[in-house]
Amino acid sequence: MGVADHVEAADRLGVAEGVELIRFLWVDHGSITRGKAVTLRALTSRMVSGVGLAVTRQATGLSDLGLPVPGYNAVGEVRLLPAPETMVPLPHAPGSAAVLCDLVTADGDPWDACPRTFLKQAVESAGEYEVMAGFEPEFTLCRTQPAPGRFEPADDSLCFDNEGFDATSDFAVDLVRALHEQGLDVETCHPEFGPGQHELTLQPMTALRAADAYVTQRLTTRGVARRHGMWATFAPVPTPNARGNGNHLHVSLWSRPADGVAPVNLFADDSDPLGLSALARSFIAGVLRHLPGLLALTCASVNSYHRLRPRLWSGAFGAWGPDNREAAVRVPSQLGGREAASTNIEFKPCDSTANPYLALGALIHAGMDGVRHARDPGPALTEDPNEMSAAELVRAGVVALPQSLEEAVSALEADDLLMSVLGPARRALYPTIKRADVVEMKTLGDELQFHTHAVRY
Ligand code: GLU
Ligand code: MG
Repeated sequence: MGVADHVEAADRLGVAEGVELIRFLWVDHGSITRGKAVTLRALTSRMVSGVGLAVTRQATGLSDLGLPVPGYNAVGEVRLLPAPETMVPLPHAPGSAAVLCDLVTADGDPWDACPRTFLKQAVESAGEYEVMAGFEPEFTLCRTQPAPGRFEPADDSLCFDNEGFDATSDFAVDLVRALHEQGLDVETCHPEFGPGQHELTLQPMTALRAADAYVTQRLTTRGVARRHGMWATFAPVPTPNARGNGNHLHVSLWSRPADGVAPVNLFADDSDPLGLSALARSFIAGVLRHLPGLLALTCASVNSYHRLRPRLWSGAFGAWGPDNREAAVRVPSQLGGREAASTNIEFKPCDSTANPYLALGALIHAGMDGVRHARDPGPALTEDPNEMSAAELVRAGVVALPQSLEEAVSALEADDLLMSVLGPARRALYPTIKRADVVEMKTLGDELQFHTHAVRY
């Protein structure tokens, strides 16, 4: 093939003009986006054959060392196989593009330690329902890359403060343009609580697309910040006492598009006082039932538990309620003019140290367990749990949540459903990786723990 043929083939694959390097990316168990790049000339063949990867890459935590899990050592190879529809240019890295990959065996079969495959399986398990989802990541924008003992937020504005828009306007406008160039539809963008904290949301999408879009959004946010000489961190709590950065998950179940019939949001029921169907309530019941174990996959770092505390609106109470910002599951009030379409549940105890494919996949499995058994979540929590006594919380059925990553991992291991859907490989790998992170962070000590998360995420 001559150069012109390569360019033409790349064009058919949606690679923007002028791109020389295409990153084949995946997200590891610790939610670090990693990859290898191929050149434009190698792209056509590598889109088919993939790029090789040692199996130990899915057996590493924050130390970056391979951990002792049987079967994950120096022997063994998988492939990064691109999902062509995820190809995007990287405006912050001119000449580069990125494509998200599945991890497959050398024979091309799905690999049982592939997170993206886990989400695909979760979506399949929802059977007749189409899962719509949206990620709501918050991040802290810093003037410079954090160093131990140095953390400099880009602004000192109040929540939703117009000053925060002005202090970061060049960055925000560039970011929105970059995301639009990547084909993502940005819906909202604003400064939030605490110095440097911002949030940007995309339109809801089908579950796999939403997780893919979040990965692209996160790496682009970090890249655009870097291009501006700044630093964006999605760490749950990047420096002691900072307001937490959440990554709330929004989910609803829809009918699948059928010939001539528009899909309908099956979480909506206008005869219900909260506008919520029995299906949505059962889904919530499933989520609450599996909440302690779920947290190992959604609040997936030592750092997560500095955020998951009362009064921080991070969903630290095991309960559900309409517009209740302290409940793990909030039912957001519907939007005027699109009441049925906007009906969804918001899962708050999730942050960006969670692998998005594992987090959303596990949430779907938990919710669908509630649906299959037609479970009832009990009455909604309509009060602020911070204003309730311990006895009142018990009476209201508010379940206690793990207070640390260790506790969450133990709860995961005790959750038969979640362990079963994870499958043998992830079941062996995930707890080992997370426990190694716990030890690693204890060894580093508190200051370096915050710093490590601020730079890794
Ligand atoms: N920052 C909060 C969290 O950690 C969320 C605040 C909000 O409701 O936007 O989840
Ligand atoms: Mg927010």
